[in-house]
Amino acid sequence: MKKLIPVFIFWQLVISQGFGQTPDICATPNIPFAEYKALRQSDLRLEFRADTIIYVPLTIHIVGDDEGNGYYEPQNVMNSLCRLNADYEPYKIQFYVRGDWHYINSSRWYDHDTYSKGQEMFSANNVPRTMNCYIVKNPKGACGYAYINSYNMALGKNCLGSGNSTWSHEMGHALSLPHTFNGWEGTTINTSNPTPATINGHEVEKADSSNCTTAADLFCDTPPDYLSFRWNCSTGMQSATTYRDPNGRTFKVDGKNFMSYSDDVCATIFSTGQVNAMKNNLLFAKAGMSTFEPPYELDTISIAAVNPILNGSVNPDSFAIQWTKVPNASKYYLRLSKFSDFITFDTILFTQDTSVVIKKLLPSRRYYYTVTALNNFSFCNSSTGVIRFNTNTLGAGSNIVNDLDINIFPSLTTGQKSISIEFFNIKNTSVLVELFNPLGIKLGEKSIDIFNPEYSISELNLPLETGMNIVRIKIGNQYISKKIIKL
Ligand SMILES: [Zn+2]
Repeated sequence: MKKLIPVFIFWQLVISQGFGQTPDICATPNIPFAEYKALRQSDLRLEFRADTIIYVPLTIHIVGDDEGNGYYEPQNVMNSLCRLNADYEPYKIQFYVRGDWHYINSSRWYDHDTYSKGQEMFSANNVPRTMNCYIVKNPKGACGYAYINSYNMALGKNCLGSGNSTWSHEMGHALSLPHTFNGWEGTTINTSNPTPATINGHEVEKADSSNCTTAADLFCDTPPDYLSFRWNCSTGMQSATTYRDPNGRTFKVDGKNFMSYSDDVCATIFSTGQVNAMKNNLLFAKAGMSTFEPPYELDTISIAAVNPILNGSVNPDSFAIQWTKVPNASKYYLRLSKFSDFITFDTILFTQDTSVVIKKLLPSRRYYYTVTALNNFSFCNSSTGVIRFNTNTLGAGSNIVNDLDINIFPSLTTGQKSISIEFFNIKNTSVLVELFNPLGIKLGEKSIDIFNPEYSISELNLPLETGMNIVRIKIGNQYISKKIIKL
């Protein structure tokens, strides 16, 4: 069932379909109140230095059906991890990926409707001493679930992404937090009746916080919350509706907490008490898993497209997509599509190289590609962005120019303005040389006439900019691009 991701794989042409219906928010099961109280009492309530970051290792399990369809797309995994770290960054907790992502083919786990199937998935695949995150289509009809104080969680791929707090919420559960409405799970409050003193065996928290140490989630810095259904917050990130506590005192529910069921716009914070509980859980209940040392060099990823450049043209029969090498990148992920929203793919693959040869595209079409650099710690801003290009009319350039027939030097320069271009076996008599920056803005151009078909060399003065420059050479209807770095 489990396999390591190969370095270079081709993907299904269509990765994911819409879910069709809105799932419930979270299927994390409640634990008995006595058990929860004992868990909270085991917290050592240590104080943490404000500048100490705890680094938590994750194992990413991406689940598809039996045929390997439906994997959550890698760019979306990166966006979701970027969001997870952004949500926890103010609290000095950061997550990194230990080891390769695990791809699992199992329809039974991909779309699972019972906890027992989920537990089966966890037991068969969990990597010890890491937090195991399974991305599936359907985690028991909800957006996700995690057992309170556990090493695993199931996440619905339609509830992740940069605009969604599901992962942060489920991580809170795995790190021992219950919902802020602890006890109300599965029970919708009836505002026409008095609010009971207990609900499902849990003491109901009062509006004046007088019982905050014995009620609900036991945190005194999370105000009372009775709302176990998805709700949209109103003015001041509070509920529009007013509720009554067991003493008849009125209040509005605060929607800011990640562990509430308010919508994603509101859920933006953890309380100090919750953060201390999560850190206690990491350092004691899960002792030995986390580290205070950054697991990798934390260089920011910065990647740029080299070829084709924005609005460039290529030979549809064969051309190379190239990008800049990123220090610390473990691999690169390329997507090529006829559609700017990448709803379908012509090519989708991983590689450790910085170029891929693409063959047999349709002529006279617009295409789009992105390249994302992957590593185990930096998840944000890791993509080239969407690069649009065109394919030439087929047959217009009958003599296919080999990339090796042109050599430009130096590829790295400090001050000089001139570059040299060598041509081998180029029979066309006129060649256009254009210079672009990485944004696709043209910096200059020169024409060259070639007289010797075997070999010629031309020295050109071009206004190179500091950083990366792209030299595009047009021969007939074909283009070849090379990069020059000026320091
Ligand atoms: Zn939950």
